[in-house]
Amino acid sequence: MNISENCYQWLMNMYDPAQEEEGWNKLSQEDQAHFAELRKKNLARQEAVQNLENENEYYFSAFDSLPLPMAIKDKNKKLLFVNKEYKRVIKMHLESAKNQAEINGEEVKSVNMTDELSNFDIANIAYFSDESIESFLENCTYAIEHCAIVQQEFALGNGDDKQNYIYWLTGFETATKKRGLVSVYYDDSFFQSILNRLNKKIVDLEQEQQNIIKTSTLDPLTGAYNRQVLSGFLEEAIKGSREKGSPFSLLMLDIDHFKKVNDTYGHLIGDQVLQLLVMLLKKTLRDRDYVVRFGGEEFLIILHDISYENSCRIAERIRILMEENMSTPMRRPITVSIGVVSYHQDETIKDLLQRVDDNLYKAKTSGRNVVVASE
Ligand code: GH3
Ligand code: MG
Ligand code: MG
Repeated sequence: MNISENCYQWLMNMYDPAQEEEGWNKLSQEDQAHFAELRKKNLARQEAVQNLENENEYYFSAFDSLPLPMAIKDKNKKLLFVNKEYKRVIKMHLESAKNQAEINGEEVKSVNMTDELSNFDIANIAYFSDESIESFLENCTYAIEHCAIVQQEFALGNGDDKQNYIYWLTGFETATKKRGLVSVYYDDSFFQSILNRLNKKIVDLEQEQQNIIKTSTLDPLTGAYNRQVLSGFLEEAIKGSREKGSPFSLLMLDIDHFKKVNDTYGHLIGDQVLQLLVMLLKKTLRDRDYVVRFGGEEFLIILHDISYENSCRIAERIRILMEENMSTPMRRPITVSIGVVSYHQDETIKDLLQRVDDNLYKAKTSGRNVVVASE
């Protein structure tokens, strides 16, 4: 059958065989059936196209209303769609880059335009750096090939306009095995500001924690460790001594006739004597030795990794140091008595403390300002 294009259109779109028409009646019955069938198919196709358009309009409006920049690409990384937010952000950065170049009197650079940007009519403006583009395109390929999610950080703009973004590239495959990529990016500065605030909080908390540890372990008057940490220190010293097989020593020091110092010169002077004593001890001892305020004017000193003989020497040195450096306002020397013991393997802390206390007692009863030691 030979039929002109006009006639075909007329038959496809206009003519309704339900109504009697002269032209129609002239057709053979076979042609009438043929055209009626064609017309039916065409109407169905038009309806399908209309439905698709409606659907697309719906999806694109939804994508456009997203507050995030979004782009869809096909398997060759050709851009199929970008939403409104995407255009807005890119345009903003491109314009600011262009303005900046003009302000600086620079010639606007000819740029590496990614395929993403080729849809925009703003050209010749610096955008991504070469490396960013390279890794970006590699990531796109990877996401498409593996249907994977890839994250990439990058900066847009420069100077004050510089903004960090996190790109999410998600490769996908359709039901009919078509590969593609959807990318969304987040403004990182919001997350960065939260992160900075959190980091600052952590630093503050760590500082606070340090202060708490300090105040809970140190004696506020002298800065020596307080009694609460003594058993921990002794357990640690015992453990270290067992592991390393090296001995440690314990010294118990008590100021002689301290009550008299207080009674004669007042508590404030007494306090200053205590502070001076701890300062002198810290100066003399090694960093790994501990000074613990055991009672009012009584101190325990833990000397790690030291022989009995050496700890006796140190105790004597401390005794002389105090005698020579501590005095009353009337220049009368203030002295100390010291008990010394070396730790016995498998000895309990209680026994250890008892032995050193006994030695201190002996030092006191033997006239004070002496060291009494027993291995
Ligand atoms: P001894 O030689 O036998 O040790 O005599 P002592 O006077 O030193 O001993 P005693 O136990 O009789 O007195 C200890 C004094 O230490 C009594 C108390 O007022 C004083 N003291 C304890 N803690 C502090 C303190 O924090 N500051 C001052 N200024 N004095 C203190
Ligand atoms: Mg005393
Ligand atoms: Mg005492």
